[in-house]
Amino acid sequence: MFLKDYISDIFNAVKSLLTGMRRTGYYFTHHKEIITQQYPDTKQILPERFRGEVIMLHDENNEHACTGCTACELACPNATIKIVTKFDVSPEGKKKKALDTFVYHLELCTMCNLCIVACPTDAIKMAQTFEHSVFDRSLLTKKLNKPGSKIRDGVE
Ligand code: SF4
Ligand code: SF4
Repeated sequence: MFLKDYISDIFNAVKSLLTGMRRTGYYFTHHKEIITQQYPDTKQILPERFRGEVIMLHDENNEHACTGCTACELACPNATIKIVTKFDVSPEGKKKKALDTFVYHLELCTMCNLCIVACPTDAIKMAQTFEHSVFDRSLLTKKLNKPGSKIRDGVE
């Protein structure tokens, strides 16, 4: 009985080895069918709908379209967004609410997209970045409006 099991194990091991080698040999001669990518040397091409993080769009003049309306903050189901507002004073002396800081807690974000849909000015969008690993959790709390940026003229 022992001898029978022993021989059976050897047979199965050799069979398994040959199965694996047959697969390896196949891809050795069919390079175009290989789907495994040598990450990070080869960057993954992600599907268009992939959501990696919320970002704020800025143009070449460092201007964005965020009015500080807080619609995204209200739409977010888990308090990932905190909009801090301020009042800008026009040359005529009129006060107008504006964005001071867009705080985004990437570590809380579920990529549900509700904030993007809620934004009336398309000021934010989903980016495809995904390499978010850090040793310090606080680095995942981000300020989305760039330093020195301001709202684009004409955006209400
Ligand atoms: S994608 Fe969802 S969870 Fe993330 S910030 Fe927007 S609303 Fe909140
Ligand atoms: S990102 Fe859009 S929804 Fe959020 S505060 Fe700015 S304008 Fe409002």
